[in-house]
Formats: sequence, structure tokens, C-alpha cells
Amino acid sequence: MKSVRLEHITKKFGKAKGVEDVDIHIKSGEFFTFLGPSGCGKTTTLRIIAGFYFPTEGKVYFDNEDITGLKPNKRNIGMVFQNYALFPHMTVFENIAFGLQVRKLSSSEIKSKVEKAQKFVHLEGYGNRKITELSGGQQQRVALARALVIEPDILLLDEPLSNLDAKLREETRIEIKRLQVELGITTIYVTHDQHEAMSMSDRIMVMDKGEIQQIGTPQEIYNKPVNHFVASFIGESNIIKADVKNLTDTHVTVDIGGGIILKGLRENGSPMLDYANEDSVLLSIRPEMINTGEGANTLTGIIQLSEFTGVSINYIVKVGDHELNVMIVNARTKVLERGDTITLHVPESGIYFMSEKR
Ligand code: ATP
Repeated sequence: MKSVRLEHITKKFGKAKGVEDVDIHIKSGEFFTFLGPSGCGKTTTLRIIAGFYFPTEGKVYFDNEDITGLKPNKRNIGMVFQNYALFPHMTVFENIAFGLQVRKLSSSEIKSKVEKAQKFVHLEGYGNRKITELSGGQQQRVALARALVIEPDILLLDEPLSNLDAKLREETRIEIKRLQVELGITTIYVTHDQHEAMSMSDRIMVMDKGEIQQIGTPQEIYNKPVNHFVASFIGESNIIKADVKNLTDTHVTVDIGGGIILKGLRENGSPMLDYANEDSVLLSIRPEMINTGEGANTLTGIIQLSEFTGVSINYIVKVGDHELNVMIVNARTKVLERGDTITLHVPESGIYFMSEKR
């Protein structure tokens, strides 16, 4: 299994920017996801790795080999696309065997490898079926088998679940993750779905407007978003502009307006943030970090909306000039109603500080 390194990759389409200065090192065996909204540059980056696009600037390495100019069919990669890209008139067996025939393997070798791949994706006995006789989920598993049967160094998956309905998407997601862990194959996954990204990946690269916003583990991205875009794209967050009032080695005290002062841990700040030079910052507070128990940072608010989901009670609470989303996970407590007063606490560790500038 190979590692993938993109060194300062920029891709322009005429004057239009595809991606700019993408610099990443994907480790051997890693499940690495490109996540971001439509048009952020995920597919362009993937196509550069596959060799379908050549970068305008920068270099691509597989391990230590510079493969920037190498043709796609010389890169030993397996690819699965959103629309499967199978040959509809051919059988399951013929589709999976295609890459092996191109490589001129003997028919007995082909037969054994294809059968093994079929077994791997739970399609034993389906060899003679036409693609048109399969469900969407089965077709996607044929595409996966076809990509894996050539024993690629790297597996590239471009929104492979988006044509499947919700239940099948869930099953196939788990299936892909299982295969990846069993094979230990370096996998690069493109999606705009944060749940997919969070649940499958070792690390995620969040992109916006052709640029990297943040690279990290799902926990890092969720708990320590570097900016407004990441905090709001991944999960729900209360994002509040605040003035820094006091700064010590350990704590940051901020004023969020309406006479409300909050105190948080200085270590909960993105590294590029130098509070001393910044009079205002953005706070990110996750709804589930706010509680009704005891603790620091007491806030009093009025319920605007309440919702019981079974797992949690969700409130929108007016606190000073702000409307906060609050998620009470202990759903056995009494559900308050619109107009009721509620006392909330935000633990110091539940406030994350972001720079306004980035
Ligand atoms: P989606 O999820 O919608 O596929 P994406 O994140 O994969 O989006 P890209 O397809 O990589 O985004 O596109 C990044 C940017 O590059 C967009 O602004 C897009 O318009 C532009 N772009 C991509 N391919 C081309 C092309 N062949 N010619 C011109 N512009 C392109």
C-alpha cells in the first residue's frame, strides 16, 4: 500500500480556479476523506491523483516516486464513481474481470481472482447476471469488486453512496469501511456528507472554494474547528462574536454583549489565534455542550422553541441578544415550553475560540 503526497497542487481551468495550493500527505493504509460543499475542489483533487487532470502547478508522489506526469493506467489505482460506470451489457463476471483481461492474465487466474472478489463483496453466485438485473446497491458492490480485483495500491472513491437510498447507503458505508480495514488499502474518499466523512475516516480534509480549510481526525475537526466555515459545516454549532476582556496563561474571558461574560480555556483555541493581538474572536459552542446542571458560565434565557426527539430535548433559547441551540441529552427531564425561563451552564471546556480573520 502506498502513501500519497500532493505538493502545493494548483489547478486552473483557464482563468477559473479549480484548487489552490493543496498540500497533503496521505499515509499508507489511511482512510482519508475530502469533504466540502459542491464546487469546493474535491473531485478536481481526486482526478489529479488519478491522473485524469494534470496540475497547473505542484507535484504528485506515490511513496517517494514522482508520478505527476504518469498516465492513469500506469498508476495502479482502483476507482469507484457515483454512477458506477459499469458496462451494462456485460455480466457481473465480465465487468469484474475487465481490468484483469486488459492486464492479460490467464483465464484460470482471472476466474480465481474474480470469484474471490465476488465473495469479498457478497456477490457469490451472481457472476452470470447482467448489470441491468441488479439493484443499485449490488451494482455499487460490483464496481467496488472491479476496483479491488486488480489489487490496486490506492483506492479512490468519488461519492460512491450518493445514488443509493438511505438504508442501502448505511449498509454500503459499513461494508466499504469493513473492506478497507480488512485490506488495509490506502483509500481516498470524496463526499459532501459530513456524517459519512466523520464515521468512516481516519482523517478528513475540509475544503472550501478550492482551498484547504482544515486537516484532522474527525474528533479534531469536530472539537477544534479552525474557523467559522469548518464549525458550521461539520455538525451544528452556536457561533458567537465576542470581545476579549482578559487573557491569562490558562483562561480567556470574553464579553458576548448584553452584559454576559463567558470564561473558557485558552488551550481551546485554534493555533493561529493570537488573542493578545485580537480584540474580537468567534466562539463555537456545540449544542450538546450546554447543560442545565451545575457549573461555570451561568446563563439565564427564555425558551423560544422546544422539541423532544426521544434521544434528546432540543431548545432554542434566547439569551441576551443571542439565540442558542441547546441539546439536553438526558431526555427524561421535564420538557420546558415556549416562554419558560431556563438556567444554563456552559463548561469552560465547552467553548472553542476561533479567529475572526480566517
Ligand atoms: P461537486 O461535489 O459538485 O462535484 P467538487 O467539490 O468536486 O464539487 P470540483 O468539481 O472539483 O468540485 O470543482 C472545483 C471548481 O473547479 C469549481 O468551481 C468548478 O466549476 C471548476 N471546474 C471543475 N472542473 C472544471 C472543468 N473541466 N472546466 C472548468 N472548470 C472546472
